[in-house]
Amino acid sequence: MNASSATPGKPPLSIRSERVLVLASSLVVIAILSIVTFLLIREHASAQQAATRAASNIVQLIDADVLRNVELYDLSLRGLIAAAKRDDLKEVSPTIRHLALFDRATAAPYKGDILLLDKRGDVIADSASVEPRKGNYADREYFQSHLPDPNPGMKISRPFRARSQPHDWRISFSYRLSDDRGDFMGVAEAAMRLGYFSQLFKSLNIGHGGTVNLVSRDGILLAQEPPLAEDMIGKDFSNRPNFVRILREGDGSFTSVSSVDQTQRLYTFSQVGDLPLIVVVALSSQEVFASWKRTALVVSGATGALCITLLWLTWLLRRELRRRHHAERELAQLASVDPLTGLANRRTLDQTLHLEWLRAQRSGQPLSVLMIDADHFKAFNDRLGHQRGDEALRALAQLIAEHVRRPADLAARYGGEEFSVVLPETTTAGAFIMAQNIREAVEQLPGDMPMTVSIGIATWAQGPYSELEQLLLAADKALYQAKASGRNRVVCAM
Ligand code: GH3
Ligand code: MG
Ligand code: MG
Repeated sequence: MNASSATPGKPPLSIRSERVLVLASSLVVIAILSIVTFLLIREHASAQQAATRAASNIVQLIDADVLRNVELYDLSLRGLIAAAKRDDLKEVSPTIRHLALFDRATAAPYKGDILLLDKRGDVIADSASVEPRKGNYADREYFQSHLPDPNPGMKISRPFRARSQPHDWRISFSYRLSDDRGDFMGVAEAAMRLGYFSQLFKSLNIGHGGTVNLVSRDGILLAQEPPLAEDMIGKDFSNRPNFVRILREGDGSFTSVSSVDQTQRLYTFSQVGDLPLIVVVALSSQEVFASWKRTALVVSGATGALCITLLWLTWLLRRELRRRHHAERELAQLASVDPLTGLANRRTLDQTLHLEWLRAQRSGQPLSVLMIDADHFKAFNDRLGHQRGDEALRALAQLIAEHVRRPADLAARYGGEEFSVVLPETTTAGAFIMAQNIREAVEQLPGDMPMTVSIGIATWAQGPYSELEQLLLAADKALYQAKASGRNRVVCAM
C-alpha cells in the first residue's frame, strides 16, 4: 500500500533544503574560521619577523662596535711594536719612552691594559703606568702560542679571567715580537675588558624580559644586560641546548625556552667577525607577541561570536523547516488517507488508477481492478447501529489491506461501504484468487460482525478497454452481476 504523495527514491524538498542549509552554513563557518586562522598565523609570522629584524640590527650594532674596538687594539699594538724596535728610545727618560710606546693606545684606555713582555714573559712596558707592573705572563695561552710560531699576525685569545679580579672577563689580542733573524723576542698584548659591553648593552632598548648577551665560543657568558640572575657572568652554557644550537647555526634566530628562568624567548645571534665571541639578543616572546595576542583575542572572540550566531540562526531555521516539513506531511496524509479506515481515499485511488493505467499502456502488462461492496450493509446498520457499522467497515478495510501485499498494489475506500483494489501486473486469474481469499476471509469474521462481500473484477490485458473509465465500468458491472446472482461471490468481467 502506498498512500504517500512523495516521489519515491528522492527525499522531499523540505528535507533537501534543510540539508543544503546545514551544509551551506557549515561551509561558511569553516571558510570564516579558515580565513581568520590564516590571517592570524600571518600576523604572528610578521610580528616575529619584525622582532627578528630589530634584534638583528642590535646584533649588527654590537658586532660593529666590538670590531671597531679590535681595530683600535690592533692599531695600538702595531704602534707599540714599531716603537719597541727603535733603538733611539732606549736612551730617553722612562716617561718619554712610555709616551712614545703607548701614544696610540690612548684611543681605548678604559677597556683594558696593553703590555709588552720580553722573551721570558716579564713585563717590560705597561700602558697603565710608567713603571711597569711586576709580573710574569709566560704561562698565558697567547704567550705560549707565539713562542714557537714565527707568524707575525695578530692572535686572539679565548676569554679568560683577570688575575686580580675573578669577575672581570677579558679577551686578549697579541703580536709576536721578533728580531731581525726572526727569533722570538717577546709579545705585545692588549686585554679587552668584556664588562665594557654591559655599559653598551644598557643603552639598548630591548623591551621587558629581554637580555643582550656576549658569549664566548666555549659557552662562557661574558656579559649580560639586564642580568637574568645573580652571578651570571662566567657561567658555563656550553652544554645548554640553546647554546649548542646557537653554536651550530652560527647566525640566525629561533624561539626557545631559557634554561635560566624558563621564559620563552626569541633568540637572535651572530658571531662577531672572526673573534671567538657570539652576540645573542634574547627578546621575551610575551613582549614580542603582546600586541598580536591582543588582536588575536579580539578577532577570535568576534569571529567565534559571529560563527555561533550563524550556527544558531541555522538551527532556528532548520527547526522551522522541520516543523513545516512535519505539517506538510500531516497535510499530505489528510489529503490522501480515509480517516475512518486508514486506507487510501478516493483521491489517491483516482491518482493511482490514472498512473497505473498509463504505465500499463506503456509496458503492456495487465492491470486488474477489484470493486468490493458489503452485502446488505444498510440492514447491518439498521440492526446493529451505525457505531458497529463503522467498526465493521474498519475490520473489513484491515482485512482487505492484509491481502494486498505487493508494493505497487493499492487498497482504497471508494466511498460508503465500497472498496477498491488496484493490482498492477496482475492477470484476471491472479485477481480472482485474491478476491476469493478476501471474500472467504470476510465470511470468517467473528460472529458479532456477520458480514459478506460481493466482488467485481475487470482486467485490462492489451484490451478490451481503450479507456480507464471503461475498465472501471466493467468492474462495476461485474460487481452488479455478483449482487444480482445472490451476493457473497466474485464475478469477473468478460
Ligand atoms: P447491497 O447488498 O445491495 O449493497 O445492499 P446495501 O444495503 O449494502 O446497499 P445500499 O447502497 O442500499 O446501502 C449502503 C449502506 O451502507 C447505506 C449506509 O447506511 C451504509 N453506509 C455507507 N457508509 C457508511 C459508513 O461510513 N458507516 C456506516 N456505519 N454505514 C455506512
Ligand atoms: Mg453500495
Ligand atoms: Mg452494499
